[in-house]
Amino acid sequence: MQVLYKSTRGKGETVTASMAILKGLSEDGGLFVPTEIPKLDVPAEKLAQMTYQETAYEVMSRFLTDFTEEELKNCIANAYDAKFDTEEIAPLHEADGAYFLELFHGATIAFKDMALSILPHLMTTAARKNHVSNDIVILTATSGDTGKAALAGFADVPGTKIIVFYPKHGVSPIQEKQMVTQKGDNTYVVGITGNFDDAQTAVKKMFNDHALAAELNEAGFQFSSANSINIGRLVPQIVYYVYAYSRLVGKGSIKAGEKINVVVPTGNFGNILAAYYAKQMGLPIGKLICASNENKVLFDFFRTGTYDRKREFILTTSPSMDILISSNLERLIYRLTGENAEKCAELMQALSEGGEYTITEEMKKGLADFYGNYCSETETKDAIHATYQNSDYVIDPHTAVAAGVYKKYLADTDDHTVTVIASTASPYKFTRSVMDAIADKTEEMDDFALADRLSEISGVKVPKAVEEIRTAPVLHDTVVDAPDMPDTVKKILGIH
Ligand SMILES: *Cc1c(COP(=O)(O)O)cnc(C)c1O
Repeated sequence: MQVLYKSTRGKGETVTASMAILKGLSEDGGLFVPTEIPKLDVPAEKLAQMTYQETAYEVMSRFLTDFTEEELKNCIANAYDAKFDTEEIAPLHEADGAYFLELFHGATIAFKDMALSILPHLMTTAARKNHVSNDIVILTATSGDTGKAALAGFADVPGTKIIVFYPKHGVSPIQEKQMVTQKGDNTYVVGITGNFDDAQTAVKKMFNDHALAAELNEAGFQFSSANSINIGRLVPQIVYYVYAYSRLVGKGSIKAGEKINVVVPTGNFGNILAAYYAKQMGLPIGKLICASNENKVLFDFFRTGTYDRKREFILTTSPSMDILISSNLERLIYRLTGENAEKCAELMQALSEGGEYTITEEMKKGLADFYGNYCSETETKDAIHATYQNSDYVIDPHTAVAAGVYKKYLADTDDHTVTVIASTASPYKFTRSVMDAIADKTEEMDDFALADRLSEISGVKVPKAVEEIRTAPVLHDTVVDAPDMPDTVKKILGIH
């Protein structure tokens, strides 16, 4: 079966998977969605015998149907290799009454590595297949983790350049240090004076700027996106839900066909959308539990049916979830409208013009798969503390938001279905918040001293990703205002 990709807003053309990966965003501003969600017709017992890489092939080949078997297997082999510090790639850790799916064993110790270690290979393969001769310029807005993971993935990949914009005062010190020390002749890291939404909005605008695209083309460049709106990010994220399910079957924690619940700490709605797609493929998932921090737009949306971004932007200890416009939600909205692109475009227009939209009662019924809740900053800290106290297991603040919301879900529903919590970052990426929750006298220590102390407490070695940046020199120090981002891009590319 050939799966093609069409825009959620209906005006762009229908394209192959490789074209959708190259383009990132449809020209009508919509997101690419598969014309049909393929079924996962492999028995769970069989999946339980497969490696991560083999599972990735089973899942991804069903979505990326214009890639040959050899092409896709090469991409997978180049992505999920010794960059990960465990052969399991995404191990499950049982703690405090749930299974934590550790998605942080890649190069930058956060879950973005799961998709961004394969995206450059998918993209360069897609360029070759479509006879693209321009250099591909990856333009990315990051709330912290995407930036470094994309930089690590694309650094020194021939035929590509990568430009990352991040909110100068909206990421953790370790996140910033990771980015500004990035090596590679094709990497550019730029701080902006606004917040993540400012950066993301400006990037989206550049993608839709036809005059800018023409100027780039003239100079031998074209944009593409490594943000989670790229279908090449979404599809690799479906894999680990299938993998987690099959591991649970493999070790007898569930029977094949038995439902599990999934809890996902959510920002841009990419990770949880991948779980939703896994469910649509036929993976037995019961509830999709969407966990937000104090920027609880999604919680309010699930409760009321109104998505309202007109509110204060709160900086929290889970910065990768500090988002008021969850871009990937558009793909869910599109499904909820019954794939009515016109209706979807209308709602998205209302959001960009008036700052809110409300879905119909009919559409609201489609949200029954989801449960939304949120954790305050105190609740997040308490969840780190409780998980450590109860199970001797240290989790990062993003994962803690999910763990805290899971407790609320249990209290609300008494649903004790076997549950997988997406563990999206290593505690070493957010050592200060983590140590504040589980240790004393942390104020006097710098981030690296905290990492050493965390290692003593948890018995987990300081990851290579943190060791490496202890002494690395700062290579990027540009800071601009959001409105100057297009000029900055032109300057970097030598366009006048
Ligand atoms: C990006 C990120 C999230 C949010 O994932 P979305 O796909 O944007 O919902 C959660 N936790 C961490 C650590 C992240 O890096």
